Amino acid sequence: MRRIVIIGAGQAGLVLALGLQKHGYDVTVVAEKTADEVRQGRLISNQCVFHPTLERERELGINFWDDEVQPVEEVAFNAAGTPDGTEPAIAWRQKFDHPAQSVDQRVKVSDWMTLFEAQGGEIRHHKVTPNDLDAYAAEFELVIVAAGRGPQFDALFPRNPEFSPYAEPQRAIGIAYIRTKHPMPPGLIFNLGPYGENFVLPVLSVQGKVHGIGFFGVPGGPMDVWHGVTDIDHHLEIATELLRTHFPWDKGILEEAEPAGPLELLHGGITPTVRNPVGRLPSGRLVLAMGDTAVTNDPVGGQGANMAARAARSYQEAILAQEDRYFDEKFMREAFGKYWEVAQHATAFNNALLAPPPEHVLATLDTAQRVPEVAHRFAHLFENPVGYTGWLTDPEVSMRYLQEATARV
Ligand SMILES: Cc1cc2nc3c(=O)[nH]c(=O)nc-3n(C[C@H](O)[C@H](O)[C@H](O)COP(=O)(O)OP(=O)(O)OC[C@H]3O[C@@H](n4cnc5c(N)ncnc54)[C@H](O)[C@@H]3O)c2cc1C
Repeated sequence: MRRIVIIGAGQAGLVLALGLQKHGYDVTVVAEKTADEVRQGRLISNQCVFHPTLERERELGINFWDDEVQPVEEVAFNAAGTPDGTEPAIAWRQKFDHPAQSVDQRVKVSDWMTLFEAQGGEIRHHKVTPNDLDAYAAEFELVIVAAGRGPQFDALFPRNPEFSPYAEPQRAIGIAYIRTKHPMPPGLIFNLGPYGENFVLPVLSVQGKVHGIGFFGVPGGPMDVWHGVTDIDHHLEIATELLRTHFPWDKGILEEAEPAGPLELLHGGITPTVRNPVGRLPSGRLVLAMGDTAVTNDPVGGQGANMAARAARSYQEAILAQEDRYFDEKFMREAFGKYWEVAQHATAFNNALLAPPPEHVLATLDTAQRVPEVAHRFAHLFENPVGYTGWLTDPEVSMRYLQEATARV
């Protein structure tokens, strides 16, 4: 039986571990926290996952929340106009062909860790350092590092400048989980303004049914406001003011809200980074990066957890196809390459969302109000970003498409 170790028990690591376990692989997961510590810990993400990710979880029998979670059935898109405008300049709503959902990663990760162990998987608990990896590489046939974003494995998996246009975080992020009495749409609200974005969506959290509300502010701008905020009440005061000022049509959401709990807030900034996924250890042995450790996107496009699940699928297929052959560098590059065939489009789409929208994208968002086909196509980029490249990357193609789609109405 092939022995594989996965460093990091997150969306990527656990989906791969559970998938390989089903095929009889001897998988060990190394996690810095126990299932209980994760469940009782601080907010991790806003984790809206779309149909392909959910289908994968259902295939593996690890989506336990379909009956409980409020589905994300649609996206309600609004773009701000003048700074003091009380109504959006652009507004449309589009139903997803298949609902998305957001189950708190604290719930998912802790439930999946428990399941993995109950099915005979081994979880070792400690915070792995780069120096620990050689011992793992000696013990196991394949070491996969799925330890999330951050600098800890920077030297091992250096940044690939070709696909990493940003050297700094492009958004100041502030998220909170709330309960609101305000009437809410059955899905995701996406508010776009000149200083950043606001997202609101239903979440099945450790606290039950809540809404996640996130602000993504352009650094140095009027939505970059979270420095020194540590307390949920202070966070919600600021968030209420942000909503009133920048997206006033939705201000009732926070005016009628209370925090879901004292730990239900998260602040930070993420530098979108694509890395060389194959790391060479001092012994010469190789390790393979996965999920955010390999490719980190800003959360603005809701791609990270979806791509982590995609990576788990691609890597699993590559591992199965390798049968009993050695997990060499060629195998590692091909496994990542299969994932990158899809992930490159998610990264391109996501990075484009961080830049001010060019004219043809604004025209697309505007036309979406009148032409449902355009709204449908744009909304479904979130679940399948492959459609972004060759469409919104090319102003001529986009504008021609808008003419044709408008003529079809
Ligand atoms: C505010 C916010 C909102 C987001 N919203 C969305 C969204 O709507 N949709 C979406 O698709 N994505 C979203 N994301 C991104 C998504 O959460 C991540 O991309 C995804 O969780 C990545 O999965 P992963 O398994 O690669 O890493 P992680 O989920 O970070 O998991 C890594 C795991 O490794 C563990 N670990 C870390 N270091 C070590 C170590 N040294 N030793 C052992 N264990 C270690 C961590 O504790 C963690 O459990 C959001 C992220 C943030 C921050």
